[in-house]
Amino acid sequence: MKQLRALIVEDSDDDTALLLRELRRGGYDPMHAQVETAETMSMELSTRNWDIVFSDFSMPNFNAFAALELLRGTQQDLPFIIVSGTIGEDRAVTAMKAGAHDYILKGSLKRLVPAVDRELREARMRQQRRQADETIHRLAYTDPVTGLPNRTRFRELVQEAITVGQGEQFPVALLLLDLDHFKEVNDTLGHDRGDTLLMQVGMRLRSAVFASDVIARLGGDEFGILLPRLATTGDVGHVIKKLHDCLEAPFMIDGIPISVETSIGVAVMPGHAGNADTMLQHADIAMYRAKQMVSDYAIYTPESNPHSPERLGLMAELRNAIEQNQLLLHFQPKLELKTGRIASTEALVRWQHPRLGLIPPDKFILPAEHTGLIGPLTRWVLIDALKYNTSLLRDGLQLLVTVNLSARSLHDPHLLDMIANVLDAAGANPAQLMLEVTESAIVLDPKRAKENLMALNRMGIGLSIDDFGTGYTSLSSLKHLPVNEIKIDKSFVTNMLADKKDAMIVRTVIELGHNFGLTVVAEGVETQEVLDALAALNCDKVQGYFISKPLAYDSLKSWFLTSPWKIGAADAVR
Ligand code: C2E
Ligand code: CA
Ligand code: CA
Repeated sequence: MKQLRALIVEDSDDDTALLLRELRRGGYDPMHAQVETAETMSMELSTRNWDIVFSDFSMPNFNAFAALELLRGTQQDLPFIIVSGTIGEDRAVTAMKAGAHDYILKGSLKRLVPAVDRELREARMRQQRRQADETIHRLAYTDPVTGLPNRTRFRELVQEAITVGQGEQFPVALLLLDLDHFKEVNDTLGHDRGDTLLMQVGMRLRSAVFASDVIARLGGDEFGILLPRLATTGDVGHVIKKLHDCLEAPFMIDGIPISVETSIGVAVMPGHAGNADTMLQHADIAMYRAKQMVSDYAIYTPESNPHSPERLGLMAELRNAIEQNQLLLHFQPKLELKTGRIASTEALVRWQHPRLGLIPPDKFILPAEHTGLIGPLTRWVLIDALKYNTSLLRDGLQLLVTVNLSARSLHDPHLLDMIANVLDAAGANPAQLMLEVTESAIVLDPKRAKENLMALNRMGIGLSIDDFGTGYTSLSSLKHLPVNEIKIDKSFVTNMLADKKDAMIVRTVIELGHNFGLTVVAEGVETQEVLDALAALNCDKVQGYFISKPLAYDSLKSWFLTSPWKIGAADAVR
């Protein structure tokens, strides 16, 4: 029997007994305490040593999130496993994002012991690795001249801040600060003095901001400043002023007074970018702009980005593009795992621009939403998608086609009429069509969204929730909506074999999705291995480069001829 000190956060004595019985059956000899409030949990954590924490999802006076937070607050790295009874408690994805190690439904307790074995093993490994890591970390993540975090570390911290900021809905700012004329200092005074100057600049910057802000040296004469927790974006101005002020007095290097001037580029989230690299890139663009304008600082705007569609005046051209049929659709097949059939495709729009070539949707969908062009665009996509779909049907291939619907469209009062007209004109059956909307689209105005979705459902049109997991909707909140399918976002799927947390999220969405009677699709499947893993998890459908990239209609038809999978819904004539 293996000793196990288990802290059980649970309000039901019966459930605790079941849990202990399962542990004993798995060869453990548990010493346990049962707590159901923050106070008692806190007390247990501070007075005794534990190997593992099990937590119910919600209790009358406590819940898993609070327990998790409490545990984290103590800095103890214990495995934290949620053991939850009811299928309604489906914030599991969020819980795992928040740091829970696993999520087990009380109905599948047989998974408990393997999970405990695994988590204890991993906790031990984490423990061993931690010390070695600290050394490596220091070497790999620190700039030797200033002792500040280096670019690699900074990038990671920015990414973390973005993730947290998006979750908790507060702004994050990234500043790039560049010393003007540093090269001259280096050339005239020598590298050693140049290094001394950098070190002193680093120290002053460090002392000018809060401890929770990050100052990093990114290389050369460039510093990165991360403000991960702003109350409002307006606070950036105060920080910039503090930074300027702190560099105002000359630096004394070997008795020589040296003044520095700086240019600062700023990128702010939300608004500018959703990942570290883009944010860095945007701050960089802003910094160059500051230099060009000989201004102390500049804040990134899409107009200052030479790659931005606004800059290219694309939106002015989009209206014509729609009328002149410059848009085209690519179709990406979805594979039904149980039957091995390609039963549907997703229509993805592109813009064949006469000068700029093929423009991906990321470049024009969002601007189209903001310029009122999304309505005509969606209409064009629907018409074209149904045209090809109907043509496949005439060839005896019965496939479902899904079309993406923007958040804006979902709240458009003319949406229903438009769709009804398009279906009518195409002579298409509503059952040929499915719509994909993102979670965020629903959250925007749940009441209006619900009305439209209900009406679409009555028309016989299926509904799929796209990019699931990236927002903060829970599955149970979808219960009241006529949803048929959820698509696990590719950011979780693509890496699921390398990233345990992603794997956990995928597994949980599948399990809970099924509990809610939904079809679950995984997108971003790029390898056979991921496909196999998803099949083992009972995922219903997969979509991704491994099956096929999105293809133009003609290529799709050729692909059908050579594809290893059967084409068309099972009841179709081939
Ligand atoms: P989405 O709906 O999440 O579409 C899936 C995107 O993932 C597509 O990018 C697709 O090419 C890409 N993808 C598919 N399989 C894989 C894979 O295995 N790995 C990776 N890394 N990526 C994969 P695409 O076509 O560039 O579309 C981007 C987004 O643009 C779509 O994301 C959708 O949100 C939007 N979009 C596309 N067409 C339309 C449209 O007609 N209307 C609206 N409103 N939005 C559209
Ligand atoms: Ca989609
Ligand atoms: Ca998606």
